[in-house]
Parts: sequence; structure tokens; C-alpha cells
Amino acid sequence: MKHDDIISRLTLYEKCHLLSGKNFWNTVGIEEKGVPSVALSDGPHGIRKQYGKDSQMGIGPSYPATCFPTSATVANSWDTELCEKIGEALGEEAASQGVSVLLGPGLNIKRNPLCGRNFEYFSEDPYLAGKLAAGYVRGIQKNGISACIKHFAANNTELRRMASDSIVDERTLREIYLTAFEIAVKEAKPKSLMASYNQINGVYGNENEKLLNDILRGEWGFDGFVVSDWGACNDFVEGVRAGSDLEMPSTRGDSPDLLIKAVKDGRISEDIVDKRVDELLDVILSTAEAVKKYEGKDFDIDAHHSFAEKAAAESLVLLKNEEGILPLRAGTKVAVIGDFADNPRYQGAGSSLVNPTRLDSALGVIKDCPLELIGYEKGYERSAPANEQLISAAAELAKKAEVVLLYLGLDESGEAEGLDREHMRLSDAQLRLIDGIYSANKNIVVILAAGSPVEMPWLEKAKGLIHGCLCGQAGAGAILKAVCGIVNPSGKLSETYPLSYGDIPSSPYFPAKERGVEYREGLYVGYRYFDTVKKPVLFPFGYGLSYTSFLYSEPEFTADKAVFTLKNTGDMDGAEIAQLYVRAENSSVYRPNKELKGFKKVFLKAGESKRVAIPLDDKAFRYFNTVTGRFEKDGGEYTIMIGSSVSDIRLSGTVKVDGMNAPKSEEPEALPHYRSGDITAVPDEEFAALLGHPIPDTGWGGTIGMNDALCQLYYAKSLKARLAYRIMRGKLDKGLKKGDPDLHLVFIFNMPIRAMSKVSGGYISEKMCRSVVGIVNGHAIAFFKGIGGFISGYFRQRKLRKKMMKIK
Ligand code: BGC
Repeated sequence: MKHDDIISRLTLYEKCHLLSGKNFWNTVGIEEKGVPSVALSDGPHGIRKQYGKDSQMGIGPSYPATCFPTSATVANSWDTELCEKIGEALGEEAASQGVSVLLGPGLNIKRNPLCGRNFEYFSEDPYLAGKLAAGYVRGIQKNGISACIKHFAANNTELRRMASDSIVDERTLREIYLTAFEIAVKEAKPKSLMASYNQINGVYGNENEKLLNDILRGEWGFDGFVVSDWGACNDFVEGVRAGSDLEMPSTRGDSPDLLIKAVKDGRISEDIVDKRVDELLDVILSTAEAVKKYEGKDFDIDAHHSFAEKAAAESLVLLKNEEGILPLRAGTKVAVIGDFADNPRYQGAGSSLVNPTRLDSALGVIKDCPLELIGYEKGYERSAPANEQLISAAAELAKKAEVVLLYLGLDESGEAEGLDREHMRLSDAQLRLIDGIYSANKNIVVILAAGSPVEMPWLEKAKGLIHGCLCGQAGAGAILKAVCGIVNPSGKLSETYPLSYGDIPSSPYFPAKERGVEYREGLYVGYRYFDTVKKPVLFPFGYGLSYTSFLYSEPEFTADKAVFTLKNTGDMDGAEIAQLYVRAENSSVYRPNKELKGFKKVFLKAGESKRVAIPLDDKAFRYFNTVTGRFEKDGGEYTIMIGSSVSDIRLSGTVKVDGMNAPKSEEPEALPHYRSGDITAVPDEEFAALLGHPIPDTGWGGTIGMNDALCQLYYAKSLKARLAYRIMRGKLDKGLKKGDPDLHLVFIFNMPIRAMSKVSGGYISEKMCRSVVGIVNGHAIAFFKGIGGFISGYFRQRKLRKKMMKIK
């Protein structure tokens, strides 16, 4: 062990306490023995260091920090160097606020556009997500602090997120849901990783030995520490055994007490505890040193604000430019319409919510652009029905303008942690507004703010469409610069925009009805599905326009790389994102028609051309073989395609690859739907064949258990428990209707009973939760035993908390 000198001086009590937090955000410190306490803070696109009284739900006020564009936005830049620079800025801000571990980036795959946290994630494609995340991690860790990649793994829905079970076959898990983590771990060596709330094939992320020990540490060589997502620790002892090093937040002695008992009873050996402490200490010690160097130093607020604008500018996607309406010439008379122009939508809600150092709005910065602003109208109220007065005022204004800049998008309640969306539409108020404006002026340029795809039945009414996604505190200026042609948009979509939600491959299986979230669509996530079955989409993966044009020519393909010439054939400087896709021509297993295996963003001056090389790396031809339990390569012919999007292939050729002669791992006749790609109605037997075992029964069992979410109290035998459910539901629905859901309540609603002991700051113990289970199930004996257990648990916890206070 690396830190034997320290560990040998620690008592069992101290070691067990080190593996659980001190409070909501800090680790336990034992200064006199050389163990400092360090701080962990969110998040992926800005630092959210909370102040004030510890909020046990972790969504209280925070110190100002730069709010960079969210990951979903930066992903559209396809620019790993940009990600690294953003990471560097985040790392600097974290260290200057005394934060050792920055809880991000999040790299879960966007399986379904309704997942409420998609704005925090990069892509539907694991290769792209992994490469971009690796950039962030390299940047964040440059100064010695730790990035924390999250949420490991298959955490792709917010509904009952702490109580759901992702049922996913091994190949899909490895190729789609783990590959992004694998790339980030191997290429950037993150010092920490966060285990997710959910179960993966029946085992909680935080106690999943296969994921944490065998794959993460064993196969990928991860040597940092694993932290539970906040409250995700199910069985603390099992977590420690499986490879989890830190439970967050603190349970004020409850979990450590259970671990001490487990060691004493021989349920777990002290050597394992020592190993976990060693892994944790390694990061605590080095990051505490790194943070020390920043004491008293501030980051440059202005410089970071300007950089946030640059990051947004690199990530804008021009989705439509009919009749070349954009860029607008200097002096164009514009009407600005839409509440988002005044009160921007620039980030999502939940634990990633940053308190920005400043906030630009379109109305605030338009004076810096060579446009003539003839007026502003609000047009709609957020989260409210259409307002005819606002619409007619907006239409009146539109009549006087040459061009209307129409600011639309999802409002705050549409994109929040803890809540999945119910549909992909814009609000009725905005839809009505588009009609109203269109009847007054046909020159409409829509500026869209949304961290996830929306349906666009209104698209024909817009001549121009710039997608800003959620572009951070300085995004408004970047967008206006693109409107005027000072910036040439170069982003491309990192996820498919379907024509309608029903087209999404996972839509028949989302949201889950009960505990089990069945990944029946297998590998067919996003473009892997649309491109295979040739289903039309609104905008394909990798799509984005530019004010200039690019020509691809002179390809050369080998099994190691693709080389070609890229020329800017227009009259404006600009950047193109060239994408490399691979298709196996004689595969032993089912495979999507195309898979992204490389990309490069190339900047070219007008008229300039460059020779571009995209390497074919170890991921290019591989598939996961369920017989050998590792990635293998089929020998034979592969088509290499270079494209401007997945559906716009400009060059292609074939290469021959040597195989590894692995045994066959799939019976084609058992998987007809997967072979054809038509996976929207996979029968049970076929999904079971894909899983390699019967579909587990994850239905609700009749009695409420420790791991049933509070929203399932609906089924409880106890009248009082059902009443509690009704009260919570009523309050939640009220907030949702107003467009301002109480996120604390949302979190509690989706939380299993056992998690009460994890997030109550030591006021409720695991034992007390068991008593609650007895109470809600309503049997007379269990009820009284439950009440008794709860009261005695309260006094035990009080003692433990007091003892814990002594730990620094
Ligand atoms: C979120 C994490 C976050 C943590 C701490 C959890 O609810 O899932 O992403 O880092 O809270 O705020």
C-alpha cells in the first residue's frame, strides 16, 4: 500500500469513518495523523460550492462561479481541445474556491431525449462522449485537483433514479454505456469516479463488484477513488467490499458504525478497509496539496467570462439557413421577440445549477452588434398558457422589422435533475407565438435554447435557425455574433433530432413502468437505429451548417487511418467537423449500419485546403464477445466512411482487417429483430435471448421494501402512508403546473426508504428506515415494532452524532 505509514497509525474507528463523509460536501479529516479534510463540489459546467447551513438535499445557494455552456452544448463543438481548456478553467475556479474534487463531467449516454438530465451529458454516441469527457478531465486535473466522472453506469432516466434497475445485455452495456467511461479512464486518468444511484442488472452501482472492481480497476486500470452518488449507498459494507471508497453525504456515524461491526464480526476483512483507505488517501493527499497552492488566489472573472463566450461560439449549431437569410448584413432592422432574449435560458436545474458571476442577455448585448434594434416584445410567459395580448403586440412589432429574431426554447421546468420530460414539444404559448409572428413577417430567425431535442413542426415557418442549446452565462453574445457573421457557426449535433418522439428507438420502453428499466433496443441508440432502418429524421447526428462550404477529396484508406483533403470552397473562414464512420461488411454479430469511430474539427481560411488524417484506433473494429468476455475483432472487410454528418457521407472505401478468430457469440436466428434493426417491439423471448437469461421480474412485489421509492407509497397498506403519498403528489403536481417544481420534493419522491438514512445527516439511521418499512406495510405487530424501533433508533443516532462531532 502507498500510504502504509499513515494507515498503520489509524484506528479501525478512524479508518471506517474516513470512508464516509464528514458532512454534505467534505471528507473526514484526521489532521493529527496527516489526513486533511477535502471538499467536493459540483459540477460539470461551473463550480457550485454551496455556502450557508448544510442543505441535506444539496441544492442550496452557492458562491459565484463562471457558468460555462453545459456539456450537451459543448458536445456540439466536437472539439476535444476546447473541452480541455474549459476543464482547465473549471479546475482553476475549483481550486481557488478550495475544492479538491470537482463532480463532473457527466458522461451518461443519451438513450432517450426525455431524460431530465440530458443537458448535463454529451451525446448519444459513446466514442464522442468519451473523447470529449477525456478532454475535460485532462483540463480539470492539470493543476492537480480531481475530476470525478459520473454516473457509473447505465443511469439514463431520472424517474425513481435511486430505485430503478437498468436491465441491459452485456454487449450493449460494454459497447454503448461503458465505452465512454472506458475512454475517459484510459486516456485521461480521472482521480475519481461517481457510482450511480441505480442498479445495473440487479446490483446497485455503488456495490457492483463487476463494474467497480473487475472492469473499472481490473480491465481499465483505474487507480483513483470511487464515491457514491449522494445518497446512493445501499449497503455500505457491500460497497466497501465491491470497491467503493467514499460514501457521500455523511450519515454521521451510522454507516461507519455498521462497517466497524462488520469487521469485528468477520463479515469483511480489515485489509479491504485498508485498501479502500489507501485508494482514497492517495487522492485526498495530492489534491489537498494542489488546492493549498491556490490559497488567497482568485480566478480572473472577466477572462473566464470571455472564454465562456468563445466556448459557446464554438458550439453553436446552424440548423437552417433558407435563402441565405443569415448572416444579417450590418444595419438590418431587427425585432427581438421572446422572453428568453431578456431572461436567458442558459443552464439546467438541479445539482449542476451555477450561480453565474454575471449573465449576458440578448437585449443587453445587442447594442454591441451592427444591427438596428427596432424593439423588443416578450411574446410569451414562461410556463403559462398562450397570452393573446403578448402575441398581438409581438406581431405588431414584427410587421415593422426586416427580420425577426425569435427566442424560443424549453423553460426551466423542462430540464431539471430528478425529472424526466413528458414530451418533446415547445410550450403552447411559444407555438402560438410562432404562428402569430409568421402571419406578420416571414423573415423569422429562431434562436433556440434547449439542452435536449425538441420537435419542430413549426420549422417551415423559420428561415433561419441557430441552436444555442444551453450556452452558459456569456452565450447571448456568441449567438448574436453568429447572427451578424462575426462568428461562423461550426457546431454539429451530438445527437439525432427525430421528427417526433414516437420515432425514438427506446420510446416503447421509456419510462419504465415498474422498477426494471429494460434496454430492449440494445445497441440501437440514436443514429445507430435511424441510420440502420433508414427512418427519416428532422436533423441527423453530426449535422450542422456553416456560412461557408467544404469539399472532401483524395481519400486514402488503410486499416490504421483515413487521410483526405478538405477544402474551404466558400468565401468565409470556417471550421468543418469531419466524421469517420465504420461498417463491418461480414460481421459475426449484429451491428448498426454505421458507427462513429473518429472525428476531427478542422479550421480553414476561405479557399484554404489541408490534408487531414483521422486515425483508426483500437475501438474502430471491435465488438464485445460474450463468450470470451472481452472485445474481439472479426477479420474481413470494413467500409470506412468520411462524412459531414451520419447521413452525408462524402468519401468511402474499404479496408481488410485481420481478425482474432474468437468463438461465435451470437445465434443470428435467435435475434431476428436485432439483426434487422427493427427493435421497437422486441418480444420477451428475443430480449431474453439477448440478455442470455430470462428477463428478471422487477415488478412491484406487494409489500413496500427498503428499496421502494417513496412514490410507491401509493401501494402501501397503511392508510397514513397512502395519505403521505397523496400530500406529496399534490404538492409536486402543483409545482409542476406552475412550471416551478420543488426539486427537494422531487428528489424525496423518487427516493427509496433506505435513502432517508443516507441524506438525513445522521438523524435517521438504517435501522429506523427498517422500522418505517414495518409501519408503512401496516401490520399491527410490525407497526408497533416499527414505532419502537424508530424511537430507539433516534436515541442511538443522537449518541453516534455526538461522538462524530469530535472528528474534524
Ligand atoms: C447528483 C450528482 C451530484 C450530487 C451532489 C446528486 O444528486 O446526481 O450528479 O454530483 O448530487 O450534488
